[in-house]
Amino acid sequence: MKSAKRSDSTNSGRQDSSSETNDEEQNELCPGFKDVDAFVKYGLGAVLSATKASAGLPQTGDDYDFYRSFPGFQEFCESQGDKLLLCMSQIMQHHGCRSHMRDRNKLTGLEERFDLVVDSNDVILERAGILLDEADGVNRSQQPVMPAGFQPPKIVVSSWNRKGSGSGSRSETFRLLHAKNVARPQLKFREKVDNSNTPFIPKIFIKPNATKPLPSYFTNKQIRKERPEDLDVPAALADFIHQQRTQEHVEDMFAHPYQYELDHLSIAENLLSKCEPQLYKPMDETKFTFIDTLEDLVALNEKLCKLSEFAVDLEHHSYRSFLGLTCLMQISTRDEDFIMDTLELRNEMYILNEAFTDPAIVKVFHGADSDIEWLQRDLGLYVVNLFDTHQASRALNLARHSLDHLLKHFCNVDSDKRYQLADWRIRPLPDEMVQYARTDTHYLLYIYDCVRAQLMDFNHGQTGLLQTVWNKSKDISLKKYAKPIFTEESYLELQRKQKKSFNTQQLTAFRLLFAWRDKLARQEDESTGFVLPTHMMSKISEELPKEPQGIIACCNPVPPLVRQQVNELHLLVQQAREMPLLKAEIAAQKKKGLTPIKKPDVALFGPHDTSRVSESDLPLLSPDEVPVKQGVLFTEDEHEMDIDVQKTSGLTAPAKITVFQEVETKIDQESVSVALMKARRINESFENPFRMYLPSSDVHVNKNAKFDPFSKIFEISKRWKLQSIEQQQKELEAKKKAKHEAKEQAKKVSEERNKAKQSYQESLQNVATVRQQAAESAKGGGKKRERVASEVGELTPKPSKKLMKSAEKTETPPQDSFKPFDYSQSDLKVFAGTKSKDNTQFDPNRQGHDNKKKKFPKGQNNSFAAGNRSMSYLAGKSERGFRHNWPKR
Ligand code: AMP
Ligand code: MN
Ligand code: ZN
Repeated sequence: MKSAKRSDSTNSGRQDSSSETNDEEQNELCPGFKDVDAFVKYGLGAVLSATKASAGLPQTGDDYDFYRSFPGFQEFCESQGDKLLLCMSQIMQHHGCRSHMRDRNKLTGLEERFDLVVDSNDVILERAGILLDEADGVNRSQQPVMPAGFQPPKIVVSSWNRKGSGSGSRSETFRLLHAKNVARPQLKFREKVDNSNTPFIPKIFIKPNATKPLPSYFTNKQIRKERPEDLDVPAALADFIHQQRTQEHVEDMFAHPYQYELDHLSIAENLLSKCEPQLYKPMDETKFTFIDTLEDLVALNEKLCKLSEFAVDLEHHSYRSFLGLTCLMQISTRDEDFIMDTLELRNEMYILNEAFTDPAIVKVFHGADSDIEWLQRDLGLYVVNLFDTHQASRALNLARHSLDHLLKHFCNVDSDKRYQLADWRIRPLPDEMVQYARTDTHYLLYIYDCVRAQLMDFNHGQTGLLQTVWNKSKDISLKKYAKPIFTEESYLELQRKQKKSFNTQQLTAFRLLFAWRDKLARQEDESTGFVLPTHMMSKISEELPKEPQGIIACCNPVPPLVRQQVNELHLLVQQAREMPLLKAEIAAQKKKGLTPIKKPDVALFGPHDTSRVSESDLPLLSPDEVPVKQGVLFTEDEHEMDIDVQKTSGLTAPAKITVFQEVETKIDQESVSVALMKARRINESFENPFRMYLPSSDVHVNKNAKFDPFSKIFEISKRWKLQSIEQQQKELEAKKKAKHEAKEQAKKVSEERNKAKQSYQESLQNVATVRQQAAESAKGGGKKRERVASEVGELTPKPSKKLMKSAEKTETPPQDSFKPFDYSQSDLKVFAGTKSKDNTQFDPNRQGHDNKKKKFPKGQNNSFAAGNRSMSYLAGKSERGFRHNWPKR
């Protein structure tokens, strides 16, 4: 009814306004309205009068029934009703929503119809919101430069090409020059891209200019080339083989191949003295060579080896590849410019290591941080003796440190940075792009001269400042490429950046979508931003659309893989919706790189309430640890409460299933005799067989699990399988802290006692190792070393120096240390050529060697697996938030 009235008045209104604005018709926003304001003003009026009129209609009940008894009224109502439904149907269809408003047969009741309207409203409003956002955030005024013959670029607004994430940066949207139909260079790569969820291992196999020879791991083709995942053996066996092969090479595998040379690099005298800048040749008088054959590359290498310096830059593409692709390398000498097709010569570029690692040749880069990583990742190239003009610019405190600024400042050259985000995969390379790429290195040696001279002047002829720049440059060349590793917790970090507080359902959706996107991106070798940009992922999680259409509505433009798999995504959203609704406060709790030392959870219920405790978490109390204050539920004093918590921690799930629970060990160690410790140790060895697979603290049992017949099996198996690398790392970190504390305490204890304990510990070491070995081989992870170290650490309340050292060694930050392979997370067959056929039934939880399928009926598999996982993880987090907050009321 409302709409009927409204459409009537719309007509009359339009007539009025159009007669007034006849002469301006050309500039009208839409027929009859000269601008948005006019339209909004009019629309508001129309809605108001319609609302008023509808209020004047006979009310339901007696009033309405009375009027209904007049055939005229009835007829009018019906015809108006049909009109209305038709109108609504059309609007809904226009927006791609399900609409059977008019077809009364297809609908059972008013309720369902009402739901349809509500959902459609959501979709329409959503779309309006997106359009408003777009109008607000995207600057379309500047037309990007594109080489003739190429399609006008499409602007892709996605999180990855948005500069920064801080407030106020919304309008800084980068332009992505997008050429359609660029053949995927990956298809031509001889060595397939390795997107598996395993750490990066250097590509080097020959090491020119070595003072320390390349470790055998890299020179031995047998170990390197035969990837266990390529062997036709069961996954567990492949893991085992891999573990055996890599065990002895772990340190080498993840070290910087030129670490030694760089550590011992000293800057030549002449590089620390002032010299006259040597002016660049004009570009059009400079010889240019495009290199895409091995022959030319070899010739170039020979040329470079004779020089004392050359300039280098790279162009990169990251949108249509998971890890990114180095597309071009530009090199400029004092006389010549070269551009190498690094897509074509990907496997041959390593020969340049001869010049690149020659300490007598300076390699000048501008802002080499990414370049150093790309060189390693794609080309197996390293740089020894780097000079980074970006670092020089910083040291000189120049106004800005970008290359454009240096070009303008020193060479008075205007560079057109609009090409920076061009699609560098395009071949043949258009002239305009060649010009741009050349500019990036052509002037760089001159700039290098200038900044060196200025750095000397700046420092009154002293070399200090220049030396700093050399050192900073060296630090950059020591950078190691690290592959993005998916862990069960990676989504949290990204979610935190969204600055949105999510409830459990939304957070679950975010987690599931994150896993889906990561897996698909690795599989299809696309960037996660191409699969599903973060802001869309966040939007879907926030909205939790009831219909697949709602998911589509959250995306503008709709990413192709989202459109293709919208039903799978919809299933994930549905799973998230099934979560119990709780406010999640994870974001506030977690800080990057820090594992807050968690207090054992406070039981919300009485000591006899085991509703949230599963068998695996039942108290495992040794005789000396009987809880003292079992009945205490509340306590006013916070400090007192902490003690209570410690003492009654046997009541809560995480208390005993931990290897690193520092608080207790500290207290106990002082008072426990060797015999008692031994007894406890034996006692503990009878605990939950899954003990060593469980996260050290923070074992959570979800509320819903007990309603699910499968959940216990599922939970236990899932939990240890999915224990993330990150978490393990964090645990090690926490343990390290604990050990430091233990060390402090150790000073107080007498030597004798210390000795006794050490000998005791030695006698126990074997026990732990055997158990560990069995466990580890069952698990197939590469964690053995660390685990052994941790157990020893835990047993030793006052660790000896030697132990401390060995522990520290294994506990360097993630990028520098060995990360255990988590094959359970990866689909290793994908890039070996066996592509999963079952694309439509994508399941982020399905492992490469999935056998769950057999257990559960088809269709249920998907939702069950992920749903459960989500519950077990998520509820844990949020409940912790709750429990944590609760005593402080
Ligand atoms: P450049 O060193 O300026 O030539 O940049 C090298 C590569 O880094 C380019 O090919 C781009 O792929 C990438 N890149 C440079 N600047 C940006 C930026 N602002 N946002 C995203 N990618 C960039
Ligand atoms: Mn660069
Ligand atoms: Zn560049």
